[in-house]
Amino acid sequence: MTTTTSTPRRLGHLGYALAVTPLLRWLIAHHAVPADQPWRTRCEACAAAIWPAVCTPAGQCRTCHTRIGAPPYLVEVLTVAAFGLLLASDVRGWELAAYTWWSLGLLVLAFIDATVLRLPHRLTAAITAGTVVLLAPLGLTGSWRGALIGAGCMAGYYLAVHVASRSGLGLGDVAVAVPIGFGVGWLDWRLIIAVAVLGHSLGAATIVIRRLTNAPRAPLPLGTYLIAASFAVVVTAAAIR
Ligand SMILES: [Zn+2]
Repeated sequence: MTTTTSTPRRLGHLGYALAVTPLLRWLIAHHAVPADQPWRTRCEACAAAIWPAVCTPAGQCRTCHTRIGAPPYLVEVLTVAAFGLLLASDVRGWELAAYTWWSLGLLVLAFIDATVLRLPHRLTAAITAGTVVLLAPLGLTGSWRGALIGAGCMAGYYLAVHVASRSGLGLGDVAVAVPIGFGVGWLDWRLIIAVAVLGHSLGAATIVIRRLTNAPRAPLPLGTYLIAASFAVVVTAAAIR
């Protein structure tokens, strides 16, 4: 871990992360709609355009105060925490740019999946493409091999589960395994096993907690758990490599 970046400079970087949160909130509010409905562009209660009406940290329409999109302040807290953890780990330069794009894009997907059990392919494609483009200036390093193996193995595994479970696992989960496997595999493709174990453990823990608290049964957002697990694995592996 390097100590060359001064504290005021790091705080300035965290300010940049905070500045993109209105856009992240717009992406979440726009895409967090049931599969049979068009993407949201307006507040359902007062018809105000969601940009900029629902893009403040309060998570509600500025005109009619209806709750829309992500919970209050959670996007802002998680964005600053994610960027702070990336800065504290050993990722710098183009890797830092790529992992910032990767983690903030996956954060948007996690909120959407947790809300409506959807992982829109357009966002998954943008996260994957942006990560590849931002890592391209690093040239042909050995990390590409690990990233491609990670993406292929992880997506292949969940595609097999999708086929075996007869659509019990959605294609959105299969697709999001590509950027997750790619980002984790860039550090070491074998870490995808840790992501799968941790992600499914988080899901199992949720089921146990729901049973203990007599909460109603509901489908689990597997994508959200895998995204949380992949971020934890990436920042830990980057910090100790
Ligand atoms: Zn409204």
